[in-house]
Amino acid sequence: MTSENRASGTDIFECENCGTCCKGFGGTYVSDEHIKEIAAFLGTDPETVRKRYTEAAGNKTVLAQKPDGYCVFWDKHCTIHPVKPRMCRAWPFIETVLRAPENWRIMAGSCPGMKTTGITTQIVTACVERELGRLNRHNAILPEAPSTKGSA
Ligand code: SF4
Ligand code: SF4
Repeated sequence: MTSENRASGTDIFECENCGTCCKGFGGTYVSDEHIKEIAAFLGTDPETVRKRYTEAAGNKTVLAQKPDGYCVFWDKHCTIHPVKPRMCRAWPFIETVLRAPENWRIMAGSCPGMKTTGITTQIVTACVERELGRLNRHNAILPEAPSTKGSA
């Protein structure tokens, strides 16, 4: 059994690339900074990304969805993986789980990559703290505005 002192993110999560988290769930928020990164990755300009791949959700901007409900960048995998928004990078190691670790099991109901068997609350909390710390250190090197979706 893995202890919380040794557990890493891969002990409790391994993405199965099913795409479920890239469908629906209320949209993936993107900041101006995200849009610039996506534009650079696609070799285009931010205005083109904004027009072709985003839509408004209230006073925020989200990635557009295709008619089938999937994110516009989902095509059997994330086609902008290196520059996907923070909320997609973080999943499932998100702040919500730190606030209420029981959310891990609830989220696992729709994400087959999240493991629950033999995984204690202490292990979940330790892993989420580690992975979030890693993501935040990465973002300190490559600054990125925060976003709020729980998605891959
Ligand atoms: S993070 Fe979970 S829901 Fe999303 S693609 Fe991976 S296994 Fe599927
Ligand atoms: S991981 Fe990629 S395809 Fe999935 S919602 Fe995020 S940007 Fe879209």
